[in-house]
Amino acid sequence: MIIDCHGHFTTAPKALEDWRQRQIASLNIPALAPSVSELRISDDELRDAIASNQLRLMRERGMDLTIFSPRASFMAHHIGSFETSATWAAICNTLCHRVSELFPDQFVGAAMLPQSPGIDTKSCVKELERCVLEYGFVGVNLNPDPSGGHWTSPPLSDPYWYPIYEKLVELDVPAMIHVSTSCNACFHTTGAHYLNADTTAFMQVLTSDLFRRFPTLKFVIPHGGGAVPYHWGRFRGLAQEMKLPPLGEHLLNNVFFDTCVYHQPGIDLLTRVIPVKNVLFASEMIGAVRGIDPETGHYYDDTRRYIDQAALSDEERHQIYEGNARRVYSRLDARLKARGH
Ligand SMILES: [Zn+2]
Repeated sequence: MIIDCHGHFTTAPKALEDWRQRQIASLNIPALAPSVSELRISDDELRDAIASNQLRLMRERGMDLTIFSPRASFMAHHIGSFETSATWAAICNTLCHRVSELFPDQFVGAAMLPQSPGIDTKSCVKELERCVLEYGFVGVNLNPDPSGGHWTSPPLSDPYWYPIYEKLVELDVPAMIHVSTSCNACFHTTGAHYLNADTTAFMQVLTSDLFRRFPTLKFVIPHGGGAVPYHWGRFRGLAQEMKLPPLGEHLLNNVFFDTCVYHQPGIDLLTRVIPVKNVLFASEMIGAVRGIDPETGHYYDDTRRYIDQAALSDEERHQIYEGNARRVYSRLDARLKARGH
């Protein structure tokens, strides 16, 4: 079985974006705020949006199941208040839930949280619980920078985040550390901000005792871990100077990396540097990089090709495609077992 642990609903019907634009336009004039019931997207529209895009590509590429969350760049937690984010997150999560009901064998949900800069993270717990317990979601996306590129929140090791961690641990749900759109002109959203955040999150947990405090908390760092695998020696050396335990012991029972690296040498490096038990297959399609690589003639985000061609044993490949995802996303494993997989 091939599980893609990182897909977003980037192809939602345009009515969703229109509703969000109205919500944003109403921030200064609350009377103009659209009600949730004004957003109407039929099951047929949802089915079409998936069948002609993600599902088509999954079939072409031989992928079986995608952990599917709302479009990351649209989370935009910096916009409006907590209430703005709460309404928006609930809408987006519900759409992903509906997709998982329409295609129960191919999609399982992961939630966006109603984060808002400076707001107590306790406020996210209710939506987290709702998505996991009512919708059967198996993961969440946690935005380490809800300000959108200005990094005004404390680091991920700070007690600010503990209410979310406590609930994640209680429910045994991993968090993918995933920023949203950048509203800082210095950082291109998907080319810089995403990868910066992956690297930054890793260093934040490296310099902390977070996983001694939360030994069963699990983070998936997407986009191949940003700069982490490439600079593994630097991170090891820094940890050593800080008299921290070796990284394997310090972080690698809790931190995992996905395979959203869009060329063969990158995947070769990732799978050589990072223990295979810490690598989860993902493509993030249909996402930031949608073109065809003229050097290979294949889509950049057709990441299965790179895993198939990496110097891995069949057992290692199985871990990356299925085993590791089932270990990290224990609720997914339970769901698959209940269906005889
Ligand atoms: Zn993503």
